[in-house]
This record gives sequence, C-alpha cells and structure tokens, in this order.
Amino acid sequence: MPKTFLIDTSRCTACRGCQIACKEWKGFPAVHTKQTGTHQNPPDLGPYNYKLVRFQEYKMKTRVEWLFFPEQCRHCLEPGCKAGADAILEGAIIRDPTTGAIIFTELTKKLTEQQAKDVQAMCPYNIPRWDKKEGKLTKCDMCIDRLQAGMVPACVKTCCTGCMNFGERDAMLKLAQERLATVKKNHPKAMLLDPEDVSVIYLVTEDRKLYYEFAEARTPAPMPGMTRQELLAKAAAPLGRLLG
Ligand code: SF4
Ligand code: SF4
Ligand code: SF4
Repeated sequence: MPKTFLIDTSRCTACRGCQIACKEWKGFPAVHTKQTGTHQNPPDLGPYNYKLVRFQEYKMKTRVEWLFFPEQCRHCLEPGCKAGADAILEGAIIRDPTTGAIIFTELTKKLTEQQAKDVQAMCPYNIPRWDKKEGKLTKCDMCIDRLQAGMVPACVKTCCTGCMNFGERDAMLKLAQERLATVKKNHPKAMLLDPEDVSVIYLVTEDRKLYYEFAEARTPAPMPGMTRQELLAKAAAPLGRLLG
C-alpha cells in the first residue's frame, strides 16, 4: 500500500515553512530571485526548489481572497514521467515498492536535454525541472531517505497547521473524505483533486480552475516517434483517461 499525502489547503496559512524545510533537508542553496508583484517566491519550481507555495488572488463579490497551493510532485500511481523515461532508458525513473515514491535516479544524467524535455512533457502536472549544472532531471522524492529512517517528510514535519498530512493510503483517503465534508460546510465548491490517481491529494476550497493552471492535470504531449496508441499503452490513468 503506497504512502499518501493529504494537503488540506483550507488550513494553509502560506507561512512557507514547508518550502524552507524542503530546501534545508536537501541542503539546497538560496537562489537568486526578485519581487514580481506577488508573495509567491521564487516564481516557479526549480532544481533547488522541489516545493513551492503558490499564491493566487481570487476576486470575490466584495473582496479579494488568497488561494494558497503548496505544490510538489504528486507521486502519481501510474506516472507519465516514468512511462516516458522507460521508453528511453529503463531505470532512469523508478517507483519505490514500499512507499510508492516516484524517484528520478542518477541515470537521468544519461538523458540528453531533449530527451529530458520529452519526459517533462509527459507529466500532467508540469513538475520535473532540468538541473543545468548537474545535467539531470529533478523533483521531489517524497524524502525517501527520511521515510527509510522511519521519519515523515520534512515538509510534513514542519507544518504546524494540519495542512500537510502523511500516512497509509487508506487512512489518508478516509481523512480526506472527513475533511472534505467539514470544509464543504463553509466552502460548497471544495473538492479533492484526482484522489484516485495520485499519492499527493489536494483538498481545495474553490473550483480548481481558480488555482494555477497545473492544479488541473493537462493532456501531455506525445513524445517524438510515439503514436497516440503507444502513448496510451504506456501512460495509463490519469493520462489515458484524459486522452480517451
Ligand atoms: S508549512 Fe503548512 S501552513 Fe505553512 S505554507 Fe506549508 S502547507 Fe501551508
Ligand atoms: S506529478 Fe509528474 S513528475 Fe510527479 S510522478 Fe506524476 S508524472 Fe511524475
Ligand atoms: S516530500 Fe521532501 S522532497 Fe518532497 S516536497 Fe516535501 S520536503 Fe521536499
């Protein structure tokens, strides 16, 4: 049974503790950034930012509200990135059998930049980033080293509001349904995002279209030389359903 996150955005205060805890655990350096008129900073995920709290302004009838989305890899149950990588180099992307974590291995260094772009294009959530310095694809690894040492992911450990939850899949699915029923009392449009397809389930308070564009799974671009049938055969849900 894979491990699962429940990210209950109704409880997120956008403190960015999770974003910093991720960088700290990974030993990532600060990156040069600049003010772009939003509190979202840095502006995007990157090779030294596996976690990013996205900020969205949402205009209500009488006021403007923030929507917060602490983004990371969804650790898909049938990941498009792995389907794409398997077609090029077996072992570049693997699934940890115990936790279900989708791991980009050092073999991704053997991918050319173009092949890496092809793999990126297979992710419905636009997660993988190219590390130019190391010449490899990167993303969240579910803190697999911490899990193997009996700890929870760093981002979960640091979140003190109850937004980030982590555990056995059955328990997280049950919690997700309970929290959804509660949150819906004040936010009737609240929903769970793709709970049957991913190991990182988001509970959002408003229509997913109000969040940033990849909160919604996109239809991936087929890789060069791959027919639509081959893509469908390699990439099942959620990609298969999207393309079907
Ligand atoms: S630590 Fe928790 S409350 Fe703070 S930004 Fe991250 S998910 Fe939100
Ligand atoms: S979100 Fe993208 S990078 Fe993460 S497992 Fe799914 S397909 Fe792969
Ligand atoms: S699980 Fe670990 S690597 Fe992934 S976002 Fe959280 S802290 Fe970062």
